[in-house]
Amino acid sequence: MKPFSVTILGCGSATPSKTRNPSAQIVNIHDRLMMIDCGEGSQMQMRRFYIKNNRINHIFISHLHGDHYLGLMGLLFTYHLFGRTEEMHIYAPQELKDVIDLQLKVSNSQLLYPLIFHPITSNTKTLLLENNTFKVFSFPVQHSVNCWGFVFEEKNCGYKINKEFITQEKPTIEEIQSIKQGADFINSQGVVFENSDIVLPADLLRSYAYSSDTIYDENIIPFIENTSLLYHEATFMHDKADVAKQKFHTTAKEAATIAYKAKAKKLIIGHFSARYDDNLALLAEAREYFPNTIAAEDGLKVEINVEL
Ligand SMILES: [Zn+2]
Repeated sequence: MKPFSVTILGCGSATPSKTRNPSAQIVNIHDRLMMIDCGEGSQMQMRRFYIKNNRINHIFISHLHGDHYLGLMGLLFTYHLFGRTEEMHIYAPQELKDVIDLQLKVSNSQLLYPLIFHPITSNTKTLLLENNTFKVFSFPVQHSVNCWGFVFEEKNCGYKINKEFITQEKPTIEEIQSIKQGADFINSQGVVFENSDIVLPADLLRSYAYSSDTIYDENIIPFIENTSLLYHEATFMHDKADVAKQKFHTTAKEAATIAYKAKAKKLIIGHFSARYDDNLALLAEAREYFPNTIAAEDGLKVEINVEL
């Protein structure tokens, strides 16, 4: 199976704590590394957790609160100092372009590499990036500023046919094409392999959804439905539901409810308020409503597999 994992670089909220950096994650999808959010200190976290940051060519910034992007300029300058020449693609709210341009201007810097900016503006689920094997989408969430979540989805392509079958029976390219279109396969001894036995069902395709900062909002469910792994913020315990609502955040109970209603296979909660020294109570609360929940920790790597 091709690699598909997420590494948490920071799972704190607005202010860092001794154990939690602000938001940032690295998604490895089919050996391509992509970054989601880039809170202050993210490049140090990459070093700490052995992320090969020169392999990142795409950065997705969910919104322009400092805990989600204040590490970006440092990282972009580091790439420059290391003589990077590959393109860097940034997907973010439009205003970030002005912030980057101003910082480059006042430091009289011209980056050695092309920085390609893709503004996110859409108010529905929108394709941002696609290659032969996966797609990345944005979807709007409700926060106190414009904010988007992201979905990484594998595509229904080549590897959909059972690998063991291919190794054993060695079908020709033409036969593979017709199997992909629904045909059965008959080998040289006349044994019939029914299509449904050699083609993997579409629901084995994996996906990862990142909610970013959001109020409890069932409108996001259609965008993340059936996801293999959902990262949903759980800034507060539910006894602080009023504070959560006021600040456009979610409680652990609410995050679990969204995971349950969206039929996610597994939930990671994160973006914890600095008031919580550990994640135990938040995790226990979420598990009451969605047992297959884990709590984010800085440095945690989660493999996204179909048995989640
Ligand atoms: Zn935040």
